[in-house]
Amino acid sequence: MNAPLSDKPVRHILALSGGKDSSALAVFMKDKVPDMEYVFCDTGDELQETYDYLDKLEFFLGKKIIRINADRPFSHYLKLYNGVLPDARTRWCTRMLKIVPYEKYVGNDRVVNYVGIRADEPYRTGYISTKEGVRAVYPFVENNIRKADVFKILEDAGLGLPSYYEWRSRSGCFFCFFQQKVEWVGLLERHPDLFQKAMAYEKADPLTGERFTWCQGESLAELSRPERVAEIKAQFAKKQAAKPKSAANLSLKDVFAGDDMGDQACLMCHL
Ligand code: SF4
Repeated sequence: MNAPLSDKPVRHILALSGGKDSSALAVFMKDKVPDMEYVFCDTGDELQETYDYLDKLEFFLGKKIIRINADRPFSHYLKLYNGVLPDARTRWCTRMLKIVPYEKYVGNDRVVNYVGIRADEPYRTGYISTKEGVRAVYPFVENNIRKADVFKILEDAGLGLPSYYEWRSRSGCFFCFFQQKVEWVGLLERHPDLFQKAMAYEKADPLTGERFTWCQGESLAELSRPERVAEIKAQFAKKQAAKPKSAANLSLKDVFAGDDMGDQACLMCHL
């Protein structure tokens, strides 16, 4: 049975992922809700670019972004899950590293949860707490804020986009399985140390030979071979070239930042 709700005043919470939409929402909501709590659920495995961007955002907001840490690191939970890496279907990482710590932070308080889903993505649902007392609101939907508006909000605030969009389309852990192959190549080239760390998590079951890899059907060792890297880059370039002219001329940062993940994404990690 759930514990009774507290009789404290309603709290207002905006959970940041380090991505463009939740960041733009924080900018949009600045000064609208004086007692807003800005929080970031830190898995401890986020990119340095994300931490740097949150620092910039914090400065802009003039308010501390509360960092919520999971009680244990990813490696601890990986052991609990017998070395089986999370994937889009299981996503145990989101639950253990983001949602559980967030719900612990919320406690039994009554909360208005500000979610950065935009007006042009009605298909998106993602994490909405099932906790009693948490009510989600969608200021971008209510105010017809779309993707181009989000870019403008961040630009006008002097923040621009997080720099990881130069090579990657989402915030979240450096090893996130939602990465496309070309983004893994980006990790290899920009953060070779992190790529090695991600690679070290991949294992094969000695008894069954079953392989636990981040990408389906290919290990990171295989993906990092120079000929494979060249192939992935060529495929990506071909895909870009086949797009309508207006899209083909975009900078990589605009390409990756514009690549929404449909309803696949975890809002807690990637919004
Ligand atoms: S960013 Fe990816 S790997 Fe990290 S918790 Fe979220 S879904 Fe899991």
